[in-house]
Amino acid sequence: MSAGPKPIPLSRPYRAAGELENLEQVLASDHAHGDGRFTVQATERLRDISGAPDVLLTTSGTHALEMSTRLIGAGPGDEIILPSFTFPSAANAIVLAGATPVFVDIDPATGNLDPNSVQEAIGPRTRAISIMHYGGVPADVTALECIARDAGILILEDNAHGLGVQGQGVRLGTIGVTAAQSFHDTKNIHCGEGGALLINDPTMLLSAEIMREKGTNRSQYLRGQVDKYSWAQIGSSYLPSELNAAVLTCQLAEFDTIQTLRHRIWDRYASELAAWADAAGVALMDPPGGLHAAHLFFLLLPSPALQREFLEHLHRAGIGAAFHYVPLHTSAAGQLYGRTPVALDRSERFAERLVRLPLWPSMSDDDVDRVIAAVTAFTVPSLLRSAASRR
Ligand SMILES: *Cc1c(COP(=O)(O)O)cnc(C)c1O
Repeated sequence: MSAGPKPIPLSRPYRAAGELENLEQVLASDHAHGDGRFTVQATERLRDISGAPDVLLTTSGTHALEMSTRLIGAGPGDEIILPSFTFPSAANAIVLAGATPVFVDIDPATGNLDPNSVQEAIGPRTRAISIMHYGGVPADVTALECIARDAGILILEDNAHGLGVQGQGVRLGTIGVTAAQSFHDTKNIHCGEGGALLINDPTMLLSAEIMREKGTNRSQYLRGQVDKYSWAQIGSSYLPSELNAAVLTCQLAEFDTIQTLRHRIWDRYASELAAWADAAGVALMDPPGGLHAAHLFFLLLPSPALQREFLEHLHRAGIGAAFHYVPLHTSAAGQLYGRTPVALDRSERFAERLVRLPLWPSMSDDDVDRVIAAVTAFTVPSLLRSAASRR
């Protein structure tokens, strides 16, 4: 029996140099809890990469989002607008604070928040807009900032995909009063599970430190600013272990290398799939101005039936392709906790046609060749195509 070629997963965590040595140092140091030497190093590096004035490492991107809604004091009676096409954590963060998520539609090309849909959803209860940059492609920041300013509301940023993206006058992670980063092992930089809260409004820093340290002012105590620490406000344990920070430090040291490797693969997909996509009526990810984080590469099939067929075709070839977010307004929890003022056709159409291709830094040229060969071997049946174009 001959084994077929090895399957190519959708994503695979990067191994950075020095991880085991750093872990050994932490374990030998008797300081494995948070806020040690590696936390300091990772925090400094994140400040450099993002341009955010203040950074706090957190236990996850989800927890950074939870801190964000609590830090702006969102609560019962408040609404926060967010795209339906996003990860559930952005909505959970709102519901856990007692506020209501209001789902709106996206730009059908990028999957990012559509500013007009945001504008239409603003009402007297709106406290904030929660924005996400899909694939690290900047959302329409100029329009969204203008809307937020006019309405007197805040922007919260979920930058899980877009660490370090800057250009055309935007720097992702510095747009919201806060921004959340994720270091889950499917993200560009990882430490297993982890995250960071970027704080762009300095008046929130002290409160964020307390919230992250179980509601105590222990950080101030450790800096010698108070002589005892105590329960100061509501908080939780959002502070990651030094073990996570030890790995994160190594990953961040190789950030430029990781990004170069990811962009190389992304660029190959974009150029080598273009002719096939054109002939098949498939739209390839096409970031405005070419700005993105090479976090993912997506394509949009002409119809939901073709999405299913294409996924099955790739899985048979051992290619770990995947769909993405089920729109939150159609999910069980989204219907229970959220509000959806208008139909969100574009989010539904986007999700039911989208397919992501494998993209991870240590993919070999051979792996990329195999993905491209499998993709271009898929011929869109002409009958289905004309049916799709009539829809
Ligand atoms: C991964 C991700 C999160 C959650 O981050 P965790 O670190 O896994 O909690 C939130 N939002 C988006 C857009 C993500 O991709």
